[in-house]
Amino acid sequence: MRTNVTEIFGSKVFDDRCMKAKLPKDIYKKYKATIEEGKPLDPECASTIATAMKDWAIENGATHYTHWFQPMTGITAEKHDAFITPSGDGSIIMEFSGKELIKGEPDASSFPNGGLRDTYEARGYTGWDPTSCVFIKEGILCIPSVFMSYNGESLDKKTPLLKSQELLNRQALRILKLFGKTDVKRVNTTVGAEQEYFLIDKNLWDKRKDLIYTGRTLYGARPPKTQELDDHYFGVLKPKVARFMDDLNVELWKLGVLAKTQHNEVAPAQHELAPIFTLTNVATDQNQLTMEIMKKVALRHGLVCLLHEKPFAGINGSGKHNNWSMATDQGENLLEPGATPEENAQFLLVLAALVKAVDENQDLLRISVASAGNDHRLGAQEAPPAIISIFTGTDLEAIIECIIEDKPQCNHSAGKIEIGVDSLPEFKKDNTDRNRTSPFAFTGNKFEFRMLGSQLSISCPNIMLNTIVAQAFKEFADRLEASSDLQKDLHDLIKETFTKHKRIIFNGNGYDDSWVVEAQNRGLLNLRTTYEALPHYMDAKNVELFTSNHIYTVNEMKARMDVLIEEYSKAINIEAETMVNMAKKNIIPSVLKYIKDLSETVAVKKSIVADLDCITEEAMIKKLNKLIHEVYTKTELLADDIVAANGISDNIKNATYYGESVLAKMVDLRAVVDEIEQNCSKEYWPFPSYGDLLYSV
Ligand code: ADP
Ligand code: MG
Repeated sequence: MRTNVTEIFGSKVFDDRCMKAKLPKDIYKKYKATIEEGKPLDPECASTIATAMKDWAIENGATHYTHWFQPMTGITAEKHDAFITPSGDGSIIMEFSGKELIKGEPDASSFPNGGLRDTYEARGYTGWDPTSCVFIKEGILCIPSVFMSYNGESLDKKTPLLKSQELLNRQALRILKLFGKTDVKRVNTTVGAEQEYFLIDKNLWDKRKDLIYTGRTLYGARPPKTQELDDHYFGVLKPKVARFMDDLNVELWKLGVLAKTQHNEVAPAQHELAPIFTLTNVATDQNQLTMEIMKKVALRHGLVCLLHEKPFAGINGSGKHNNWSMATDQGENLLEPGATPEENAQFLLVLAALVKAVDENQDLLRISVASAGNDHRLGAQEAPPAIISIFTGTDLEAIIECIIEDKPQCNHSAGKIEIGVDSLPEFKKDNTDRNRTSPFAFTGNKFEFRMLGSQLSISCPNIMLNTIVAQAFKEFADRLEASSDLQKDLHDLIKETFTKHKRIIFNGNGYDDSWVVEAQNRGLLNLRTTYEALPHYMDAKNVELFTSNHIYTVNEMKARMDVLIEEYSKAINIEAETMVNMAKKNIIPSVLKYIKDLSETVAVKKSIVADLDCITEEAMIKKLNKLIHEVYTKTELLADDIVAANGISDNIKNATYYGESVLAKMVDLRAVVDEIEQNCSKEYWPFPSYGDLLYSV
């Protein structure tokens, strides 16, 4: 049966169409005004909307509702309540009040809070974010919500994101006003998040404790073939994968997710999904949903969807590309170079703001993608390096150079470019000739932030982007609003900004070792690991940025830093424990059994023909015996090191120890185990090999 896409799209979402159809006109108008002006919803309005929502939800098979929120774990949380209310005569009625829609009170004590909420004050509050539509997932009406403590401190990843969108809106409107655009009511940031993932057979996954506990393989010898032939990228989909993708699309479309592009990625068993871009907070909600639905749909097909950044050593890991831009309520994209001198003056000012923002806040962008999993990618030859730089394309760089130098542009007849007077020379927008090695690339009318890990919530990177760009707009607007000669001051400001921050522009190969040296010469940061990056969160510059713009309080920042650092240490701790467990419970016993059987073969052979040679068996026994002894000692060393790490109470020192000492011992142990795997009979090896996993679907 063919899917009628137009019919199913958004069928599980109480979207604008539903609101319009089901709400009285005046209530609908009030609701729209609430969204446009960011006002709170009045109680009467909320209660009418709640009733309409409940009726729609019940019609569509829902029995429960939940505030659906995003605690600092980076995943989503829900607590289901049935719509039932006793009617007094033993029967029930289905009810849902405006109060229940607007506010929930889940027990917050078991969410990470970085010390923001004392455990004796367990209450947390959730509140509806009316800019993201409610939807039905598995019979539950889900209400996208913020999550905060009793004292009003944000405990989630959504509240600061919404605040940063408001901030950017306010400052961008000031910039547009300078260009006479007084009729623009709102500037939104837009995001399209491309999602990479792996699919493997569920039966094989079941046999690997490392995948079950940590999401990545901690052991595994290289199979004879991986991605060297480049035969997977954009290759024909295998039937099982195609059926999974069809099913996934349908589920996502029902939820109003604009799933658009799908293809095979570089590594065997690796794939990608890209949606059409939308409002940043909606894109964030939808990316969380996409990851959840991917995992669920995979299970229906006997598959497991791996979202870890580095499920397999030696082949490409998975990332997420965060395509980001700004658009007015009238549909103008602020990163679209224009045709007229005025449009281009505005484009160049916006570009200058981005260049300044990224250069001044390299640390924050790096922090926003820091995690134990992503550390395996950044800097390896598959993901952008941990150094932040901007790719503009060489044509645009030449224009920037001309502005800095006041020199004539070769294909520009008017000589030097005067901003606001001249139009920009034609330049290639670099849509095709992409530089894949850049962490932050201008791709024609948007920036693509490519450092995100595949399982990361896109919230934090976008909070950073919105806030740092808004801050640059604010500084620009402060200066230009006071100007008496806007034309001249605009020119000077753009020239000055590009001159000061041009070091961040790099159009070369980011994978080349020489870039590390050059970046250092340019004075750019190279925060290679999570534990090096995270402490910068609390640098004075960053505290000032977030507190003065009311995105975070100092406590909220500290809480986030602590949660991230602890998450890092815990991730490595679980991995190390899993390695020890697999070595002791599976690998060592299996190899000893193999050695025993080989030894018995020798004995049996000799008992039949006394002088029969057993050269092969004896060589294998010796080799395996030596290697398994190394496994044993390295396992003990790792186990001891976990104990040593756990004795360090300072959380940054603890994370540093995990990253430097424990991780190194894990790498050491793995190397020997992988060597044994290559020398061990398949029959004796206790879990599926890389070859089995990567070619299982
Ligand atoms: P590709 O990267 O394959 O060339 P596109 O350039 O079409 O593909 O877009 C990649 C992603 O960027 C998609 O998710 C797309 O929706 C998103 N995107 C396109 N324009 C914008 C924009 N103005 N703001 C945010 N994201 C955008
Ligand atoms: Mg892309």
